[in-house]
Amino acid sequence: MTARILDGKALAQILRAEAQAEIAALTATLGRAPGLAVVQVEGDASSTRYVRTIGKLCETAGAAFRHALLPADSAQATLDALIAALSADPAVDGVLLQLPLPAGLSAEQATLQLDPRKDVDGVHPVSAGLLAQGRPSFVPNTPAGGMELLRRSGVELRGRRAAVVGRSSIVGSPMAQLLIRADATVTVCHSRTADLGAVLRECEIVCVAAGRPGLISAAMIRPGAVVVDFGTNVREDGSLVGDVDFAAVAEVAGAITPVPGGTGPVTNAMLLRNLVLAASSFVTR
Ligand code: NDP
Repeated sequence: MTARILDGKALAQILRAEAQAEIAALTATLGRAPGLAVVQVEGDASSTRYVRTIGKLCETAGAAFRHALLPADSAQATLDALIAALSADPAVDGVLLQLPLPAGLSAEQATLQLDPRKDVDGVHPVSAGLLAQGRPSFVPNTPAGGMELLRRSGVELRGRRAAVVGRSSIVGSPMAQLLIRADATVTVCHSRTADLGAVLRECEIVCVAAGRPGLISAAMIRPGAVVVDFGTNVREDGSLVGDVDFAAVAEVAGAITPVPGGTGPVTNAMLLRNLVLAASSFVTR
C-alpha cells in the first residue's frame, strides 16, 4: 500500500477532547451543561445503537443528553409537537432528529418545527441556505468532519480539482459547498453521471458518498489523489465497508480514509462541536 491513511479515529479523539474543554467552559458560563436532545421514533435497530453511542459521547464530554423516544405508530403531529417543544426548551441547546423515520412520517415537515439556532445536524433549510450563501451556519456533521480530516491532514484544497460523488442534502451537496468555500474547483457526480471514471481521473481530491460498496475502483483514481470515503455499507456478516475498493485504491491514491475508522468517528465528534456552537449562541440569545 502506498497511500497515507487519514486516521479518523485519532482525529476524533482530539476533537472530542477539544469539545470537552469547551463544554466545561460553557457549563461554567451557563450555570448548566450544554444540552442535546435526540428525537427517535421506534422501529430501527441501528438507530437505537447510534443513539446509545451519542448518549455515551455526550456523557463523556460533560454535555447533558436527553433521549426523546416516540412509539413507532406516532402521528406526524405528535412528532412535530415534540420537536417544537424541545426547540422552545431553554435547557436544550441542540435537537437532532434520528433518521430513518417509519413510513408515513415526514422528516422534512418535522425539521421545519426545529429552531434553526438548535439545528446541530445542519438539516434545517435555513442552515442549508446559509451554507449555500457562504455564510456562517450549522453544517451537517458528516461533511464537516470530512473537511476537518482534510484540513488537519494538511491537504491543500485551494485551486485543486475536486469531485464529490453523491448529491444528497446531508452529505454530498454540503460537502461540495464546503469544498467550493475552500477554493477548490468542484464537480458533483451522481447516478446519472456519464463515465464517472473519466470525471474522477481529472481530480486531485475525490469524496464519495453514494452508499454503493466497491463503486470506486483503482482505475478511476488519479495517481496521488486524496480519497475521502463517506460510504457506510453493512455487509451480510455485519462488517462495514465503504464505497471505495480500499485495498486497490490505496495502491494508487496519495491518501485515503479507511472504513471503518475514517469519516465515521469524526462525524460524531463534529456533533459535539455543533452543540458547543449552539450553546455558545445561547449565551448571547
Ligand atoms: P443517498 O442515498 O441520499 O445519496 C446517494 C447519492 O449517491 C445520490 O446522490 C445518488 O445519485 C448517488 N449515487 C448512487 N449510485 C451512484 C452511482 N452508481 N454512481 C454515482 N453516484 C451514485 O445517501 P447519503 O448521502 O445519505 O449517504 C451516502 C453514503 O454515506 C451512505 O453509504 C451512507 O451510509 C453514508 N453516510 C455516512 C456517514 C458517515 O458518518 N460517514 C453519515 C451519513 C451517511 P442520485 O442523486 O442521482 O440518486
